[in-house]
Amino acid sequence: EKGKPLMLSPRTNKGMAFTLQERQILGIHGLLPPKVETQDTQAMRFQNNLKKMTDPLEKYIYLMGIQERNERLFYRVLMEDIEELMPIVYTPTVGLACTQYGHIFRRPKGLFISIRDRGHVRSILDNWPESNVAAVVVTDGERILGLGDLGVYGMGIPVGKLCLYTACAGIRPERCLPVVIDVGTDNETLLHDPLYMGLYQKRDRSQAYDDLIDEFMEAVVEKYGQDTLIQFEDFGNHNAFRFLRKYREKYCTFNDDIQGTASVALAGLLAAQRAVGKPITEHRVLFLGAGEAALGIANLIVMAMTESGVSQDEAQNKIWMYDKYGLLVKVSNCHSFYYANQEAFVHDSPGDVQSFLDAVNTIKPTAIIGVAGAGRLFTHDVIKAMGTLNERPIIFALSNPTNKAECTAEDAYKLTDGRCLFASGSPFGPVTLSDGRVLTPGQGNNAYIFPGVALAVIVSGVRHISDTVFLEAAKTLAEQLTDKELAEGRLYPPLSNIREVSVQMAVKVMEYVYAKGMAFRYPEPLDKNGFVRATVWNTQYDSFLPDTYDWPGVNFSPK
Ligand code: NAP
Ligand code: MN
Repeated sequence: EKGKPLMLSPRTNKGMAFTLQERQILGIHGLLPPKVETQDTQAMRFQNNLKKMTDPLEKYIYLMGIQERNERLFYRVLMEDIEELMPIVYTPTVGLACTQYGHIFRRPKGLFISIRDRGHVRSILDNWPESNVAAVVVTDGERILGLGDLGVYGMGIPVGKLCLYTACAGIRPERCLPVVIDVGTDNETLLHDPLYMGLYQKRDRSQAYDDLIDEFMEAVVEKYGQDTLIQFEDFGNHNAFRFLRKYREKYCTFNDDIQGTASVALAGLLAAQRAVGKPITEHRVLFLGAGEAALGIANLIVMAMTESGVSQDEAQNKIWMYDKYGLLVKVSNCHSFYYANQEAFVHDSPGDVQSFLDAVNTIKPTAIIGVAGAGRLFTHDVIKAMGTLNERPIIFALSNPTNKAECTAEDAYKLTDGRCLFASGSPFGPVTLSDGRVLTPGQGNNAYIFPGVALAVIVSGVRHISDTVFLEAAKTLAEQLTDKELAEGRLYPPLSNIREVSVQMAVKVMEYVYAKGMAFRYPEPLDKNGFVRATVWNTQYDSFLPDTYDWPGVNFSPK
C-alpha cells in the first residue's frame, strides 16, 4: 500500500514520524506538516493531553482514538504508563465504556457474529482482514465484569483484554481477534435504548445458541488452525462452566473468569502465606459468592493443597461458600439445587448461620474472598471479626468495578490496624494509617496471568490448556514478589513491571508445558528465555524504505 491509505491504516501509519524519503517514496509528502518527529515527541504530545484530562471516560475515548490512528504509538503510550492507563483500557473504566458503548461509538473494532448468521460464521470470519490470528477473545456479553448483561455493548471487554495481550506480553496486535456473539440481551434498558447496537431481542437460550457457539469454534480452528487460543470471557455463569467442560479437551481454550481469576487469586494467597507464615494447607477460606470466580479459585486452592500433601476431601473441607441465599450447607429434605460444580464445597451445617458475619464467626476463616459482584458486603463488623480471629487476616475484595468491591482498602487496613493482607479486583490507592505507615494494596488483576499464559501457550503450540498450567502461573507470579514489596503490603509485583512479569511467567510456563509433554511446537527451543524475548513485539516503527543498494564494480558494457 502507498499514499493516503497507508496513512489511514493504524497498522502502518507513523504520522509525522514518516521520514522525508518515506514521504517522497510513498507519495505522501506534503500531506503532513514539514517537521519529522520522533516517536518520543509523538508520545509526549499524547501524554500531555492525557494528563490534562480528568474524566476517565474521556481518557478512554481519547486512547481508543490513538489506537484507531496509530497502533504502535498507542501501545507505546499505554506501555509507558501502564499503571495509570490499565484502569482506563481495562477495569474499571472499560466497564463504564461498555455501558455507554453505543453512545461513545466512533469506529467499530472486532468481529460481530449474531444468531441470525447461523450457517454463515465462516464467511463472516473470512471478512476479517488478518490471516495469521493466534488468539481470540470471545464474549456473549451476558455478564460483563460485575455489571450484568450488556449485550453487544460488551465488545469493549475483548478489545480491552487483547490490548493487554499486546501491551503486557508483546503478542502482535494483528494476531489478536476480539469477538462478540450477539444472541440478544435480557437487559431491558438496552432493549429500549435507541442507540443500542445489537439485536433487539431477548437472549436466545435454545439449542440454536449452542449450535452457533459450536459453529464458531469450528470456523475459528478451520481458518486459523487447531492451536488457535480461544479465551472465553464474561459469559453467564451457567454457560461459562458448560462451555469450559465441553471444549477444554477439544480446543485450545480457557475461561479467564474461572481459570485466570483462580490463578491470580491463588498467587495472592501464596504471597500472603509468605507473610502469615502458615502453609497453604493450614488455611480456611470463606467465599462470598459461589459463581465462576469463587469455584475457579476454590478448585485451584484444592489443587495447590493436594499438591502439598493433603487429600482432596480434606482440602475441600477447608473451603466454604456463602451465596445470595446464605451458607452452602447440606440440607436434609433438600429442595435446593446446587450446580454440580458447587457440590464439593457444600458441607454439613456448622450451626446457626443467619448472616455473613455469623459465617465468619462460626467458621473462623483465615481468609475471606469476595466475588459476589454485589457491593460492600464486607461490613465493618466482618472486617473487625477477621481482625479478632487472625493475627494477619487475609481479605480479598475482588468484585469489579470499584463500587462493587466488598470493602475498600482503607476500611480493611484501618479496621485491622494495618494487619490485614488485602487485595482487590479494581485498583485502590495506597492507604496511610494513623501511625504514619503507608500500605499499598494488592490488585488481584487477571492481567498478571492471562497475557503471560497466552504468550506461553501460543509460542509452545499447546493444544489443550490444563488447570495445572494456571497453578504453575500462580506460583511463578507469587515468586516474583520481593520481600520488600511484601513488607509494603503488596501481594503482587507493581503493575509498572507487568511486561517483565509476563515475560518471565511465559518462560516458566513454557518450561513447564515442554517438561510435561503438553507443547507441540518443534523443535523445542533450548534457550526459552532468549526465545520468548526474541518473539515479543515492540512499538518501534518499521521502515518503509525499499532495500536499495549498489553493485560496485559491475560493468554492463559488452566485452
Ligand atoms: P457469577 O458467576 O455471576 O457469580 C456471582 C456469585 O455471587 C453467585 O454465586 C451469586 O449467587 C453470588 N451473589 C450474588 N449476589 C450475592 C449477595 N448479595 N450475597 C452473596 N452472594 C451473592 O460471577 P463471577 O464471574 O464469579 O464474578 C463475580 C465478581 O467477581 C464480579 O464482580 C467480577 O467482576 C469479580 N471478578 C473479579 C476478578 C478479579 O478481581 N481478578 C476476576 C473475576 C471476577 P447466585 O448465583 O445465586 O446469583
Ligand atoms: Mn471477565
